[in-house]
Amino acid sequence: MKTIDPINTTNPNGFKNQASAALEDTNLQTALQRAKSGFIEKRKKAIHLVDDFEHLKTQAQQAKQSALDNLNHHLALFEKNVVASGGAVHRAKTPAELNQIVLKICQQQNAKLVTKGKSMVSEETHLNAFLEKHGISTAETDLGEYIIQLAKEKPSHIIAPAVHKTRQQVAELFKHNHELGERDLEEIRALVDEARAMLRKAFLLADVGITGANLLVADTGSVAIVTNEGNGDLTATLPKTHIVTASIEKVVANMEDAGKILQVLGRSATGQAMSTYTSFFNGPRRTEDLDGPSAFHVVILDNGRSDILNSKYKDMMRCIKCGACLNHCPVYGAVGGHAYGDVYPGPMGSVLTPLMKGIEQATPLPNASTFCGRCEEVCPMSIPLPELLRQLRNDQATKGLAPKLQSMALGIYGWLARKPRLFQLTMGMFGRVVKLFKVSHILPQETPAPDAPDTFVQQWKKSKQGHSENE
Ligand code: SF4
Repeated sequence: MKTIDPINTTNPNGFKNQASAALEDTNLQTALQRAKSGFIEKRKKAIHLVDDFEHLKTQAQQAKQSALDNLNHHLALFEKNVVASGGAVHRAKTPAELNQIVLKICQQQNAKLVTKGKSMVSEETHLNAFLEKHGISTAETDLGEYIIQLAKEKPSHIIAPAVHKTRQQVAELFKHNHELGERDLEEIRALVDEARAMLRKAFLLADVGITGANLLVADTGSVAIVTNEGNGDLTATLPKTHIVTASIEKVVANMEDAGKILQVLGRSATGQAMSTYTSFFNGPRRTEDLDGPSAFHVVILDNGRSDILNSKYKDMMRCIKCGACLNHCPVYGAVGGHAYGDVYPGPMGSVLTPLMKGIEQATPLPNASTFCGRCEEVCPMSIPLPELLRQLRNDQATKGLAPKLQSMALGIYGWLARKPRLFQLTMGMFGRVVKLFKVSHILPQETPAPDAPDTFVQQWKKSKQGHSENE
C-alpha cells in the first residue's frame, strides 16, 4: 500500500504519482472523507440563512473588483494611513525580499522566538525555515499549523492546514513531542487543551509576533485578521513587535467594503456568519492603550501578482482564500492538498501555481480537474475557475506542454468533429466496441472491497450525487 509523503512532496509536476499515492493512503482517505461533508454541510446551512446570498456575493465581488481596479491608489492610501498611525509599510517584490525584510526587523529586536498566526504568504516564502536558518525559532499558534509544524509537514488546505491528519495521528504526534506523563489524549478536547498549554508558553515568551492579513483597509490603515481560535490576537498584541505579512490584492477601499467581504468569507470558509475573532489592528499601541506592540510593520508581497493582474488571468486576484473551491472539488476531495506539490492546492491552486511558478513548473495541475464547475458555483467571488483552467490548458498546448496522449486525442476529435457523417459513424462504432469489451469490467467496480479506499472515479460519482442533493 502506498502513502503520500507529506514532508517531501513539493513538486507540482509530480502530481500524477502523488495523486496515485494519495488515493491509496487509507489514513488520508479517512481524514478527507470526515472533513469534506462537514465543510459542505456547514456552508450550505450558512448561506441558506441569508435572505439573498447572491446579492451579498455580488456586493462583495464589486467591493473586491473595484479595489483591484485601483490597486496602486489603495495601496498608497493604506501605507499613508499606517504611517500616520505610527506603523511602517514595506513592499517586497519577491519571497526572498519579504524574508529579508522580516529578518531585519526581527534582528533589530534581537528576537530569539517568534510566534506566528496563520499566513499563507509566509508559506509562499518559506519564512519559518528562513528565520530558523538565522537562529530565530518560530512557533505556529494556529492549531492546524502547530500540528503540521510538529510533524514537519506543509499545510494541505488553505484554511484547515492539518485536515489530512486523523485524530489518532495527532494524538501520536503529541505523545512523541510533548511530555505527557499520565495524560490521556483520546478526546479532541484533550488534544486542544494540550496544544493550548504548550502555545501559552510561546505567547508569553515571544519577542515578535507575525500574522497574515485577511484584508488591508486603505482609508483607515487597518489590518483585518480573522481566526476561530483567538491566536491571531494573542500573536499580534502580546510581543513587543507585530509584523503583518500580506499580499497586494488584500487591500480594499474602506470598512464598508471590508464588511461585505467578511460576510461572504466566513460563510464560504467555515459556514459561520462571521469568524469567532474578527479583529482590526491599527498601528502600534498608543499611550492610552492598555496593551499592544510598540512596533507595527506591514510587509506587502507581490510575487508575480502584478503580472497576473495585467493578464487574462486577472479574475484570479479576486480570490479571498476561503477554501470553498477545495471543499467542493472532487479531485481535491479524493487526493487532498499535498498531491498538488505546492502551497495552494485544489482548483484555486491549479490556477495560481502555474501562474506564480511558471506553467512549465506545474504542467499537470490545469489538467487536475473534471470541469464539473462546482468550484465556480461555490466561489463567493465568482471566479471562473474552469475557464481559467481551460485557458491554461490552451497555453500549455500552444507551448507544446500538453500531455501527448491528450493532444493526440483532441486532435483526432477536432478533425472528426468537422466531418459530421464520419463523426457519427465513428462514435457508433466506438459505442459498439465499448459494449463488446464490456467496459463495466475495466471501469472501477461500484462496490469496493470493505477496506479499499474509493477510487477517484467513485469519489467523483459520489460527490456528483451529493452535489445535486446539496445545491
Ligand atoms: S477561488 Fe473562490 S472559492 Fe476558491 S479560495 Fe478563492 S475565493 Fe474561495
